[in-house]
This record gives sequence, structure tokens and C-alpha cells, in this order.
Amino acid sequence: MNNEKYNIIIIGSGPAGLGAAFHLARNSKLKILIIDKRIISSGGLRNDCKQNYTFPVGFPEDIWNEEEASALLKEVERELKPDFMEFNNIKVYRRRAEKLGAKLLKIRQAHVGTDNAAELIHTLTGELKELGVVFSFKEEALHLEGHTLITDKRTLQFDSIITAPGRAGFSFLQKWMDELGIEYIDNIVDIGIRLETKEENYPIVRDYYDPKFIFPNKTRTFCTNSGAAYVVKEKYDGYYSVNGHSFSKKRKSNGLVNFAVLRTIRLTDPIRSGQEYASILGKSAMQVGGGNPIMQRTGDFRMDRRSKFSDFNEDLYNFKPTLNVTPGDIALTCPAKILREIWKSLKKLDTIVPGILHPSTIIYYPEIKMYANRPVFIDNHFAVKENIYFIGDGAGTSRGITASWASGIRAAEGILKNCSP
Ligand SMILES: Cc1cc2nc3c(=O)[nH]c(=O)nc-3n(C[C@H](O)[C@H](O)[C@H](O)COP(=O)(O)OP(=O)(O)OC[C@H]3O[C@@H](n4cnc5c(N)ncnc54)[C@H](O)[C@@H]3O)c2cc1C
Repeated sequence: MNNEKYNIIIIGSGPAGLGAAFHLARNSKLKILIIDKRIISSGGLRNDCKQNYTFPVGFPEDIWNEEEASALLKEVERELKPDFMEFNNIKVYRRRAEKLGAKLLKIRQAHVGTDNAAELIHTLTGELKELGVVFSFKEEALHLEGHTLITDKRTLQFDSIITAPGRAGFSFLQKWMDELGIEYIDNIVDIGIRLETKEENYPIVRDYYDPKFIFPNKTRTFCTNSGAAYVVKEKYDGYYSVNGHSFSKKRKSNGLVNFAVLRTIRLTDPIRSGQEYASILGKSAMQVGGGNPIMQRTGDFRMDRRSKFSDFNEDLYNFKPTLNVTPGDIALTCPAKILREIWKSLKKLDTIVPGILHPSTIIYYPEIKMYANRPVFIDNHFAVKENIYFIGDGAGTSRGITASWASGIRAAEGILKNCSP
């Protein structure tokens, strides 16, 4: 197996890696290998798998424009064959939002569901294998030296390499950027809360599965889940962030909705690391929450009092949290500037969709979205050095499934351009 040679090696079988592989396999006869350190493809595709097909959702606007993203989204659509969801009454919500200085984006969306995601991945990897792409799971990329990749299993040669290790590959990418002398910029961070409430308090989800509201000052709703919907906690270095997901329609609904309200922060002058800042906030929340995220009923938040266990177990509110964390006081740990903006946005949202600020609605904190340092790219195809491409969420070229897939296509196009005579 040692010193096997491939034209292209792709690290990571998430949507970014798959997007690159499909484009290369359909448009060339290049010998392609995908390696992934995990046992099953494909990173974030394995989760809730809401696919957004409208710019700018998922696309950092400083490196993408609408024309280019929309053209690539057509290709993503051809591969993922989404079953689009319908919208109703959008005009009414949009009108209400506009009156308040907010915006409701109309996004073409499909939802696969956590329980169906494995089947989709199986289909996609099967198609790629038929196209001749070789997969190697449980193999971890370690070092890069010239055109040689060293993994935990072997040494491989390549002409070009595409690295797509996702957000969790943060330290891996950082190490490679340091080793290869690739310049980078610290990226933005998104910090906020996740709300959980009864569907009747946020009935818009019956008309629009994942409504994307944009409020002033870089605050937005994000990742709405309903049907059989749950809040979860994810472990990061020194803290937990909350997140949400839902199962497909096959599962019985629990009548709950959850979604995040996030504010984007970029520290510019003096320039400081956004990631370190977010990590400090995460750890501060753990301090207050005794090692766990905090949850607070909106009624308590309004009255400036902490929530207690009894507020979740023994009172008259007729739903319990799907994630049992520490009842407390979010205002003790979330910075005032962030919390104030989120609260202002929530009041607007409660006017647009009356009910969301029902006293029983649970506010979880923190929800933190961190992105790896973004490399300085040397071309429009996410090359960081000749024949080395960094793509996907980890490299800051995307923030979602369809955009990361599109970033894979963009890198693949760059490779094909360089291959052609
Ligand atoms: C709980 C959750 C729910 C989400 N829900 C949605 C959603 O509904 N809709 C949406 O658009 N986005 C969602 N996202 C975000 C979405 O998953 C990401 O935007 C997307 O997966 C990014 O794709 P990627 O290919 O860049 O990275 P990933 O999907 O993270 O894939 C990276 C892959 O690289 C592998 N890897 C890492 N390092 C190495 C290494 N050194 N060697 C070999 N392999 C390596 C990993 O094992 C992984 O399989 C969700 C994320 C989470 C965590």
C-alpha cells in the first residue's frame, strides 16, 4: 500500500469533499482517493441535513457572489436531488418583518432528517464508487511533505490535494497552515442562544420549515427544527455549545420547535482572536452553569430572575426541556451587547410571529459557532499553495451543507483548469 499514487487526494468525506469528488469524477478520468478518519462518511451531512439552495445562506459574502454561488447550487441540486418544501403566507410575514426593519429571506429548502441522513450518504458514496472514486475510512491525514501525504496508515503520493476537514478539523488545519507557512486571518464567530417552545408559539414553521429572519446589527435566526425536534449539547475544548436537530416526518412529532438566534462578532480594532473570545464566553457559561449550558424560562428572564429546577419540573408549564442542563440566569454570563441585540430581535420576532416570547419558552445559552482561521487563498479556487486546496467550513469557505459542497466544486474546477492543456 505504501507510496500508492493518486491524481487527487481528498481529505474529509463531508459535503465539501463529496462535492469536489463528484465534480472531478464526472468531468475527468483522474484517479481520486477520499480518506476520512471516521468510520462513516460524511461529516455534517449525518445530522439534521437541512439543505438551503438560496444565496447567501451558508456562503460568506466576502468570498462569494450571488451569480457564482447560484450557478454552483444548480450542480449541488443535481447531485443531492432535494425534495423542496413548500412555503405559505410568506408575504404576510415578510411585510410584518419589513415594517420592523427586519427581513425574512425566502430560501429554497429541503429537509432530510437525522434518521434519513445515513441513507443519503450511502447513496452518494455508492454513486462515487461507481464513478471509480476510492474511499478509505478510519484513515487520518497527518502530515504533508511536497507531493506526499502521510496518514496514520501509509504514505501516499498525489498531484493535487483537497483538504476539507470541517469545523472539528480546526486544530488540524491550523497545524498545516503553520507547517506550510500559509498565512491566515482569524475568522468571525457567531454567539447566541437557542429557543425551545411549543409549535403553537411559533406557528410559522407550519408555513416555512426553517425561516431565516435577519435583524439589524448582524443578528439572525438560524437552524430551526420542528416535528420531532430536540436540543442537544456538543462538546468543545473546555465548554459545551447547544445545537438543535430534528428527525424526518417518519418520527412522531413531539410538538416542539427549537431555533437559534445568533449575533456575528468580528473583532477588528485592536484585532483580537474571535475564537479565543468565543472560547472565553463558552467557559464563562460553564462556570455559571456548573459545567453545563444554562437554561432559563422567558418569563423568568423578563422578570430578571433566575430559573430553578422547579420551574422546569413542578410548575404548570406543559412542556419540559428536551435538553436537561442547568437552570439559571443567562444575563450573568452573556455579554450585555450581545444579549441586548438578541432580546431586541426577539421582541421584533414576537411581533412578526406572535407567541414566541411566551413565558414558558426556554432560552438555552451558549450556542457558539466558531470557524477555523481562514487561509489567505492564492486564487479564486481556494488554493493555498500550488496544488493544495483548503475548502469547506473548516477553511471558512462555507457555513452549511450546500455551500460547502459548492466550495468543493469550485476547487475541483480549479484543478481541472490546471490539468487542461
Ligand atoms: C449537529 C449539527 C447539525 C447541522 N445541521 C445542518 C443543517 O441542517 N444544514 C446545514 O446546511 N448545515 C448543518 N450543519 C453544518 C454542516 O454540517 C456543515 O456546514 C458541513 O458539514 C460542512 O462540511 P465540510 O465538508 O466542510 O465538513 P464536515 O462535514 O465536518 O466533514 C469533514 C470530514 O473530515 C474528516 N476529517 C477531519 N480531519 C481529518 C483528518 N485529519 N483526516 C481524515 N479525515 C478528517 C471528518 O471526519 C469529517 O468526516 C450542522 C452541523 C452540526 C454539527
